[in-house]
Amino acid sequence: MEIKIALAGNPNCGKTTLFNELTGSTQYVGNWPGVTVEKKDGLLKGHKDVIIQDLPGIYSLSPYTLEEKVSRRYLVQEQPDVILNIIDGTNIERNLYLTTQLIEVGIPVVLAINMMDLVDAWGDEIDLSKLSAALGCPIYKISALKGEGCLAAAEAALRIAQARKPPKEPPHVFTGSVEHTLAHIEESIADLVEPRNLRWYSVKVFERDKDITDGMAIPPELLRHLDMHIQDCEQEMDDDAESIIINQRYEYIEKLVAEAVHKKEAKHALTTSDKIDRIVTNRFLALPIFVAVMTVMYYISVTTVGGWATDWTNDVFFGEIVTDAANGFLESIAAPDWLSSLIVDGIIGGVGTVLGFVPQILLIFFFMSLLEDSGYMARVAFIMDRIFRKFGLSGKSFIPVLIGTGCGVPAIMAARTIEEQRDRRMTIMLATFIPCSAKTEIIGMVTSVFFPDSVFVAPAMYFLGIAIIILGGIALKKTKFFAGEPAPFVMELPAYHIPSFKGVLIHMWERARGFIVKAGTIIFTVCVIIWFLQAFNTSLEMVEDVEQSMLAGVGNTFAWIFSPLGLGDWKNTVAVISAFMAKEQAVGTLGILAGADPENEEAVFKGIAAMFTPLTAFTYMVLNLFDPPCLVAMATTAREMGDKKWAALAIGFQCMIGYGLAFVVYNLGGWAFYGTPFGIMQGIACVLVAVALYFILRPAAPYRKTVAAAQGTD
Ligand code: GDP
Ligand code: MG
Repeated sequence: MEIKIALAGNPNCGKTTLFNELTGSTQYVGNWPGVTVEKKDGLLKGHKDVIIQDLPGIYSLSPYTLEEKVSRRYLVQEQPDVILNIIDGTNIERNLYLTTQLIEVGIPVVLAINMMDLVDAWGDEIDLSKLSAALGCPIYKISALKGEGCLAAAEAALRIAQARKPPKEPPHVFTGSVEHTLAHIEESIADLVEPRNLRWYSVKVFERDKDITDGMAIPPELLRHLDMHIQDCEQEMDDDAESIIINQRYEYIEKLVAEAVHKKEAKHALTTSDKIDRIVTNRFLALPIFVAVMTVMYYISVTTVGGWATDWTNDVFFGEIVTDAANGFLESIAAPDWLSSLIVDGIIGGVGTVLGFVPQILLIFFFMSLLEDSGYMARVAFIMDRIFRKFGLSGKSFIPVLIGTGCGVPAIMAARTIEEQRDRRMTIMLATFIPCSAKTEIIGMVTSVFFPDSVFVAPAMYFLGIAIIILGGIALKKTKFFAGEPAPFVMELPAYHIPSFKGVLIHMWERARGFIVKAGTIIFTVCVIIWFLQAFNTSLEMVEDVEQSMLAGVGNTFAWIFSPLGLGDWKNTVAVISAFMAKEQAVGTLGILAGADPENEEAVFKGIAAMFTPLTAFTYMVLNLFDPPCLVAMATTAREMGDKKWAALAIGFQCMIGYGLAFVVYNLGGWAFYGTPFGIMQGIACVLVAVALYFILRPAAPYRKTVAAAQGTD
């Protein structure tokens, strides 16, 4: 018999960490709400028929957000066998609000108080027996991060589910007259619902939750009758039904916590986290600190340590060791020319060059994970919300951007948590402008080959990404398609903690794995195709001179599109086109072309250096960072937009931004720094800048304030 254990709890209480601990999987753990947008299933370690389900984080079962709707529908309609309610022990009061609702649903609940490592460190004491007696369910202390107590809590939940006993009657949370009305409702609707869900439904009837009552087939007469009782109660309490329930839940929890939880006095002053936050989220210091942190991160990962490691892997490891070994082997078996070329130029040159940048990627992900797990990135979301809001944008849009530093695909999906359709669409259009792992590789390559001594090129690309997201958001928000109030963004800041080494490594690996898997699949395939096209001519004869190849033909056909960007050489053109498959290919194709050049016997980097000037290399990087990310991301965009026209608009918008920025960078950059005279191209670039400024600075399109409109109908 299959048993389902649902993990429910507030955002950031540690559900996914616990899920990973219990199932041995490595789901994405993020320090912000909205990471888990779909429920995820896994098997409890050591059991074949016990399913653990990670639900989106929710603050309550009154659905105001998409996550709440998903979780509530699942809990009430599909009914797991038992709910394991995870509670953030450092924030018991707020977390219990959901608990009081969960125990009403009628599914057995087991409580797991998480973050006990922090609670203990702070010296707080939680009296489990008091809490358990009051709420009527078993309670366990756990630390999901340290893996302590997790299995015990899960096994307890399992035992309860296996016993298949109905749960205890939920405690009476409300005061006399409310309970009285509820009792009356329970009596009247008892025949309409499952006995064990009775309490849940009667509270919902009391709250006049139409979403639920509409599905209950209550005779209109009875509904009118019950409403009179509810109105009486409202009059007595001088408040509306929904507020009465909310307030009384809080009062109940406050009393309970006062009895069962003893917070160490000192904590009420300032915790270490608060003290750090005073500086880190300070109005004036927050941004400079963020810039400094990211610059240091890129300095270590791209310019210095990561750069040296990448140079070595590319020049020595793939450039000499692997190539020599392959050549030796191919000679020993007297391999035909085409096979040697395929292996050395195509696979080692293409895939090898892509993999050569793994050290840089790993370091970036290591630091990102460190920043994220310690709680710093959550502060960044908070800081960005402050900035976004100034421009009428919602900070909610920034969470997908943070996720997008790993990969654009989950970033696009994370936009689902944004209720308002126009804001969601806008976020999908913009979020992938942040450099993902594959784009980071391009940054790594251009920096390593052309600007090895510059500290600023790499982090500047990251900040340029953020700037374009903000400016793009401002401009889009002013059009009539996206005008409207920004969505509220509620997110609380988790306490800082020292990340676990294991957690950071898992996190880093999770992100890097996708990168390596892609190198072995898409990149491999495209590299073989590119190699084939550059090794043969249209009569399928191997060419001596690459200029005679099919690839040169393809490149020359399309070169006119990119020549205004200084990328009119066919090699640059095919590198840009092939990068539409996946951004790593921007490097892979150059690797193949560098190896195939007969003039150039030197290592790959030198070959790549010969194909660009610093200006065109920089332009190439900008174009690739801001044009559509890759095929998979484009397909995801189309799916999430749910509409062909919008998908085309989003991808067209990204092409326009990528091309436009590259055009401006190449032409104005050449004029400002490389002595190109001011000509017609520079004139067009100035016009483009002016048009962009117009869209950013013009007054916003008028829109009806939704809040005001709602109040107006009262
Ligand atoms: P979810 O939103 O409920 O899925 O929460 P996550 O599993 O993503 O965790 C949110 C944050 O809390 C992450 O940074 C975790 O590393 C951290 N966290 C989870 N469990 C614990 C714990 O037991 N102790 C501490 N100190 N941190 C934890
Ligand atoms: Mg989660």
